[in-house]
This record gives sequence, C-alpha cells and structure tokens, in this order.
Amino acid sequence: MIELKKPQIVILGAGYGGLVTAVRLQKKLNVNEAEITLINKHNYHYETTWLHEASAGTLHHDRVRYEIPSVIDQSKVKLVEDTVIEVNKEAKIVVCENNKEIPYDYLVIALGAESETFGIEGLKEYAFSISSVNKARHIREHIEHQFALYAQDKKEERLTIVVGGAGFTGIEFIGELANRVPGLCKEYDIDQKKVRIICVEAAPSALPGFDPELVSYAVARLEKKGVEFMIGTPIKGCTEEGIIVGKGEEETEMIPAGTVVWAAGVRGSSIIDKSEFENMRGRVKVEPTLLAPGHEDVFVIGDCSLVINEEINRPYPPTAQISMQQAEVCAKNIVALVRGGQLEDFEYKPKGTVCSLGDDDAIGVVFGKKLKGTSASIMKKIIDNRALYMAGGLSLMLKKGKFKFL
Ligand code: FAD
Ligand code: NAD
Repeated sequence: MIELKKPQIVILGAGYGGLVTAVRLQKKLNVNEAEITLINKHNYHYETTWLHEASAGTLHHDRVRYEIPSVIDQSKVKLVEDTVIEVNKEAKIVVCENNKEIPYDYLVIALGAESETFGIEGLKEYAFSISSVNKARHIREHIEHQFALYAQDKKEERLTIVVGGAGFTGIEFIGELANRVPGLCKEYDIDQKKVRIICVEAAPSALPGFDPELVSYAVARLEKKGVEFMIGTPIKGCTEEGIIVGKGEEETEMIPAGTVVWAAGVRGSSIIDKSEFENMRGRVKVEPTLLAPGHEDVFVIGDCSLVINEEINRPYPPTAQISMQQAEVCAKNIVALVRGGQLEDFEYKPKGTVCSLGDDDAIGVVFGKKLKGTSASIMKKIIDNRALYMAGGLSLMLKKGKFKFL
C-alpha cells in the first residue's frame, strides 16, 4: 500500500505565539495526520515579558527561560535549533543557517520583534536593546562593569544610565533598575547619590495614552527612588560617550552616560521584509483568519502580525496577550486545513494591561478596573504565571512561576 505523504507544518519561533501554537497542535493532531516542526534560534524559550528583570539583574537570566523539550511532546513535534534566514514562498521552503532548506505545506511565522531605531544615528552601535536573553545578560554585565570601573577611575558618567523611551518596556526596566541600584552601590562601595537613572521620552507624557492618574502615580513612585524624567525630549543620537537629546527647535544637548538602553520602539522580524511579505515595519496586516494576504498556507502571528482595532482604526499594540490568543486560533485553523474544515476568524479579547514598577509595585487596568501598588503587583505576577501555564501547564507554572506576592 502506498503511504500518503503527511502534511508538513512548520512553525518559526518558539516565543509566546509559536510555542503555544505547537503545544496546542500536538494535542489536537494525531502523529499520522501531520508532521510538526518547530524552528527556534535556541533550545530554550524565554519569557520576553521578563527580560527587563534579567537586564536590570533583579532576576537571574536562567529564571526567565526554560528548555523547549520540557513542554513539547517530541514524538509529535520536532524541534530544530536553528536560525531562520528567509522564507521562499514560491518553493514553500524555509531557509535556515545550518539545516539549509526545510519544506512546508503550512507555515506559521512567529519570529517576534526587533528593536526599531528609526535611523537615529549611533543607536545601533552604542545603545543596548532589551530583546533576548543574551542581550539582557549583556546589559546587566555592562552596568556592573561600569560600576566596577568607577570604583577605580571615578569617572562619574559611568554611573549614569539613560533609558530611551518611557513606554511600557522603558518604565518596567527603570522600575527594576531603581530597585537594583542600592544593592549595586553597596557591592561596589559607591555613594548612591552619584548614580543617575535618566528616562528620556519624546511624547508629552510617560506611558503615552495610558490612564493619566496611574501614569502620575508611576512617575511619582519612580522619582521618589531617584529616577529623573526628561519628558517631551526626543533622543537625536548616540555616541560612545552618551546620548544626544533635542532641546527646543534646533538645539541639542549631550548627556554623558556609561550605559544607554534604547526602549523606544519595536518592529516585526526582518525575516518578514527579506521574504518579501507585504508589511509595515516588519508586521504583516493579516486576514481575519491570521493568514498572510494572498496566501492559503502561511499564518503570521505575534509581533510579526498586525491586527486592526476597528473601534479606533489603529493596530492593537503587539503584546504577549494577543500573541497567545492568536496562537489558539492559528492552531485551530491549521487543524481545519489538515482535516478539511471551516477557518475561524480571530477576534482579540483584551483583558487589560499591567505595568510593573519593580517587583513590589505596579499600575494597571484589568477588565476596566484601575489597580496600583500591591494589588497591581500581585496581578502582574498572576499574569506572568498564566503565560507559563498556557505553554507548559501546571508543572511548568509551579517550577518557574512567581509566588512571592508580598
Ligand atoms: P517572542 O515571544 O519574542 O518570541 C520570538 C521567538 O522567535 C524567540 O524565541 C526568538 O528566539 C525566536 N527567533 C527570532 N528570530 C529568529 C530567527 N531568525 N530564527 C529562529 N528563531 C528566531 N506583552 C504583554 O502582553 N504583557 C507584558 O507584560 C509584556 N511585557 C514586556 C516586557 C518587555 C521587557 C518586552 C520587551 C516586551 C513585553 N511585552 C509584554 C511584549 C511581548 O513580550 C511580545 O509582544 C511577545 O513576546 C510577542 O510574542 P511573539 O511570539 O511574537 O515573539
Ligand atoms: P512603545 O512603542 O510602546 O514605546 C516607546 C516609547 O518611546 C513611546 O513612549 C515613544 O513616545 C518613545 N519614543 C519614540 N521615539 C523616541 C525618541 N526618539 N526619543 C525618546 N522617546 C521616544 O515600545 P515598548 O515600550 O518597547 O513596547 C513595545 C510593545 O510591547 C508594546 O505593544 C507594549 O504594549 C508591549 N509591552 C507591554 C508591557 C506590559 O503590558 N506590561 C511591557 C512592555 C512592553
């Protein structure tokens, strides 16, 4: 008897979108129905939403990651540890660094985000971005190195840390940094008054668009811990010595700094541009079914996708929350394609947003209710634990979760 070739399902990226798609598919499909391949740069998944903690050094980088084989059924999902270079849509092949060519019948692109520097000079060369475990580890070590050098040469700019952007990433990172600095000063025998954490934001407010009362609370709490805010101040450039900010119409000012972290913009993966998908800053405006326009076999989810909020006619912000919801629908739609059935439309159901201000404080709006302080901080940990549960069930949540609530 001739054995029919099983459809090849290939998932690119084992972040929130890709990993949740893989674990849902392994439950829904039998081994004789399809072959599932998950391609990821590393053999571990990391919680992107915890990277600011690893970057500040308030959480060890091993706490923010876990091995992918611990949550996938390897009899159903083949993990390929490799870097995707591009997708050849005509040949239906994924080109990778080591495995060269991996054919697909159905493809899920979930490669996440990259830092967007908007062409601002020097940022790529001299500023850090909080975008992977390796980069987070580098930021933490760089800050520690600057503190260690200061203890020897007393160059005060070494103790200045500039964070570009007071969006959610910038504010969450600053919250962790503000908590870490007292310990660092003790460790390196440094007078804490000499340390400067400066947050530079171009918009007229921190966390633009978020609830103004909660934003005021956040700014006041961080200022109390010594953070300086430069609001309505665009970053214009970066050099080895520090950051250049705009002052008024024409003028600029140089702020000497030992560490510059750019947290002022993200875009979708450059693999999207390279593979010639129609996109806006690496994000594909997907069909309601999450298929890429003009394709019946390529789904795009997570930070590489763009879904319009019809109420305001603007894209939903790229978040882990939307990525995991998309993964559920994406898995169902792939099953429908494999078995022959109707595709479902994705409908985003936002549950709210919580922004941490360090381990012990936060602000948020959840199901329309405003939260701040301890209640918001507890909610943030519940959300973090839920993401673990979604990918790896109760055992992963108990192993890696955050249970120090007070
Ligand atoms: P990711 O989860 O980033 O995963 C992408 C995966 O693809 C990674 O495993 C990566 O290694 C892999 N990959 C990338 N390129 C390649 C390649 N070329 N080849 C192979 N593999 C590759 N959102 C929230 O909802 N709540 C939060 O509290 C929150 N906090 C955040 C805090 C920080 C510091 C940051 C940076 C973001 C935060 N976000 C939060 C946003 C959220 O993390 C992203 O929207 C989410 O991670 C997107 O999921 P994804 O699956 O698209 O990509
Ligand atoms: P963002 O785009 O949301 O914020 C970037 C900030 O940088 C903005 O406030 C912008 O005005 C500012 N900015 C841009 N150019 C600038 C310049 N030249 N100089 C100074 N400031 C400048 O980016 P993000 O904070 O990295 O967030 C990315 C995505 O991840 C968003 O969708 C966000 O909702 C999500 N996220 C969510 C959470 C959470 O829910 N707790 C945490 C982190 C990130």
